[in-house]
Amino acid sequence: MKCSICGRISANGDHADCAERLRIELEDENQKRTAAERTSLNGAELGAELRALLNHMGSQRRD
Ligand SMILES: [Zn+2]
Repeated sequence: MKCSICGRISANGDHADCAERLRIELEDENQKRTAAERTSLNGAELGAELRALLNHMGSQRRD
């Protein structure tokens, strides 16, 4: 069976150390995102910009 994390062949699927590394990376990514959300635009402002962008994209599509 192939480890889905490092891609190498492993007898028991994912390697424990690969799984642990992935878990740490995900946690780190999560913390970075949380920190970024705290310091960047507030959610409402970001939502409005996103809606405007989606409306713009939608108006360009004619199908
Ligand atoms: Zn692995």
